[in-house]
Parts: sequence; structure tokens; C-alpha cells
Amino acid sequence: MTTASLPPHERARPLAKGSPKPAKDLCSDCGLCDSRWVAYVRNACAFLNQQFERLEEKAHGRSRDLNNEDELYFGVHQRMVSARLGPPIAGAQWTGIVSRIGVRALESGLVDAVLCVQQSPDDRFTPVPVLARTPEEVLAARVNKPTLSPNLEVLEQLPGSGIRRLLAIGVGCQIQALRAVQDTLPLEQLYVLGMPCVDNVSRAGLQTFLESASSSPATVVHYEFMQDFRIHFRHSDGRQETVPFFGLDTPHLKDVFAPSCLSCFDYVNAGADLVVGYMGATFGRQWLVVRNPLGQLLLDLVEPELELAPVTSSGDRRAAVQQGIGAYDKAVKLPGWLAEVVGWLVQRVGPKGLEYGRFSIDSHFTRNALWVRRNHPEKADQHIPAFAKKIISRYRLPSA
Ligand code: FAD
Ligand code: SF4
Repeated sequence: MTTASLPPHERARPLAKGSPKPAKDLCSDCGLCDSRWVAYVRNACAFLNQQFERLEEKAHGRSRDLNNEDELYFGVHQRMVSARLGPPIAGAQWTGIVSRIGVRALESGLVDAVLCVQQSPDDRFTPVPVLARTPEEVLAARVNKPTLSPNLEVLEQLPGSGIRRLLAIGVGCQIQALRAVQDTLPLEQLYVLGMPCVDNVSRAGLQTFLESASSSPATVVHYEFMQDFRIHFRHSDGRQETVPFFGLDTPHLKDVFAPSCLSCFDYVNAGADLVVGYMGATFGRQWLVVRNPLGQLLLDLVEPELELAPVTSSGDRRAAVQQGIGAYDKAVKLPGWLAEVVGWLVQRVGPKGLEYGRFSIDSHFTRNALWVRRNHPEKADQHIPAFAKKIISRYRLPSA
């Protein structure tokens, strides 16, 4: 075989470290360009080529039904439940359902390896993607690294590794690129366990956020924006600190989120077989979206260990979303006492369960549509997918 007749990825080399990425400022550092599969970047990159319909059809056999409210918001699915792992995994982000599935997938022989993200020995928040071959290596990846993570760089290790069946864990932009190159990977079977994701940051951006939002940024080991409209920080001495969303220093933090995340509409990870998050469940529980039979197969691995409950929904998000659009755009910062009062009120009468999920999706899609129209007007029409356009059309947006 001549070099010219080899498939593109066998002729390509990863981009040199530090060289500009094809998506420029919109790059989420998903890692594809750090592998030979950079050969397909123009088609595969989530920020150069949005292709949700094709992605969903390929992964699930059909695209989402835009006339079905649940599918419009949460994507193609055959089942949604809320769950808690019992007993929880100590040190996991929530109860550890994701890590448990990774461990069981290896122990049961379903896969040879799990693509997941460990942390740097020097810094809890610096991600280190790995192809985990043992349960211990999967468990070492538990808990979020709330920073952009080059997960797909480890594709470079696949050739010659003996890995034929892989479980990939990742967030939407990573999974969009992975799905686009899936047929060219040296694999017999790929399973995809996705997590919802918004408002990710670079490592430097995370520092700015922690210094602005926490009373002790140096000791934060874990945080999450939770369904009670508060950010929950856990510190290295075990102390819990909570801060109301509405008290964040918006003028200071508006620019902290990565441009990739300000232009993303894949909050619920449309291409994954199974999604594990929290935002469609009531406070303290996790939220699972089974998109297709492979996703159910992954859930089957842990279902006997889960305390399951149906998803629920209550409240009405719409007025709060509309008010939030203007407040965010004007970068309003509430004084501490008022932020506490608003937080207390919203927690009692505000949206819960799936309605909280819709609140968060509406708030982020409207903000992001405005950001794309202002910062990349030339690509707004192609880049904002049909389902997001339908959701955004329900609100009044400030002029671009
Ligand atoms: P664990 O068992 O603790 O496992 C966590 C897994 O996350 C590990 O397997 C690890 O490989 C992977 N991981 C860690 N950091 C990253 C990263 N940077 N990129 C890709 N994979 C990573 N859920 C919502 O419902 N709404 C949200 O807005 C939301 N935002 C998120 C933002 C980020 C950056 C991340 C990483 C996750 C987000 N999630 C969100 C998912 C949620 O926080 C939990 O990760 C999920 O519910 C799984 O919890 P767990 O206890 O089962 O995970
Ligand atoms: Fe490459 Fe991923 Fe960045 Fe797109 S987002 S330019 S595929 S590293």
C-alpha cells in the first residue's frame, strides 16, 4: 500500500503542542487535535461543524422529535430516571454512578479499557486523561476536574494497545468529535457514557472563579452548582460552604467561562448512549437519560445497586429565565443579603426536577445564542441547532 492510499489518520500527525488549533478561540481543547484523528477535524470539531441531526441519527437511529417537549430539551431517549448509588463512592462528584459503571464494565469483561480523566499529582484541578485498564485506575478518575480536558488525546494510544472494546466517559464537545471519527477508530465496540456540561473554564479561569466565589479558594477540593440554586464548595478539612447563584460577581465573572462553552448547545450530551448528571433530578439525587439500547446495557451493569425513582417536575421556570436574561446581560450584581433572600425564595417556590433542568437549559441557551450572535455573527445561523433555536424563540432577547 502506498502512503497516498492510507486512510487520512494513518498519514496524519497530532498537532505540535502549543500550535494554534483549527477552531481558534472557540477550541475547547477536546484533545482530538492532539491525536492523528486531527485528520478529520474540519468535519469532527464541534465548533467548526455542528451536526446534531447526523450525530443523533448515527448514534441512536433517529434525531430528536422537536414536537416532543422532553426530547426537545433532553435529546433522544428511551428512559429517564433519578437514582442514587448505595452505598455512594467516597470522594465521587455525586454518588459515583459514573465510576461504578466504569468499574463494572471492566470487571464484567464488557470492555478492555475506560477513557476517563484522572488528576495531576501536583494539582487537584488539572486533568490527566487516561485509558484505564483496572478498576483502581477508573476509581482514581472519580470527581469532576472542572476545567477543559483534552480527553481525546489518548486516542493516540489506541493503535497497538490491544484495546478492541472501549467505554468512553466525557462531556458533549468531546463526544461530538469522538462520534464523528468513531468509524475510523481501531475498535470493535464503543460505548459512550456522557455527562451534561456547561460553563467550563481554563485552569486560570477556574482560579479567578474560586477567588471570586469562595471564602477560601486554596482549600476547595470539590464544587457543584446544585438544584437548590446554591454553589456547594467542599474544603480539604471537610468543611462545606454554600453560596447563592444570585450573589455571584457577574460583572467580574462574565468573561471567565471558556468561549467554547459560551458557544455550546450540547448541554445534555446528545451523542452519548447513557447520560448521568443531576439537573433533571430533585436535590441530592442523580439524573439518568438512557438514549439507546447500548445505554441501557451500561445501566444494567449497576441497576441492582441503585435506589431508583421516577423523574418528577414542578414549578414554572419561564418568568425567572426571562428576568435572568436581562440581569445577566446588564451584569447585575445583587448585594449579599438580597442574593440570600432571592435564593431562599427561588429554592422554595422555584422549578424542581425536570423543570429545573429546563430552567438551566433555557438560561444557558439564551445567553449563548446572544454571545454567538455578538461575537461570531457570521456563523450564528449554522452553529445554533434547530432545537436550540426553538427554545430560544420563546424568550425576548436583547439586541445583538
Ligand atoms: P464520578 O463517579 O465522580 O465520576 C466523574 C467522572 O467525570 C470521571 O469518570 C471522570 O473521568 C469524568 N470527568 C471529570 N472531569 C472531567 C472533564 N473535565 N471532562 C470530561 N470528563 C471528566 N451535570 C449536570 O446535571 N449539570 C451540569 O451543569 C453539569 N456540569 C458539569 C460540568 C463539568 C465540567 C463536568 C465534568 C460535569 C458536569 N456535570 C453536570 C456532571 C455532574 O457534575 C457529575 O459529573 C455527574 O453527575 C456524575 O457524577 P458521579 O458522582 O457519578 O461521577
Ligand atoms: Fe481540535 Fe477539539 Fe479544539 Fe476542535 S475543540 S480545534 S477538535 S482540540
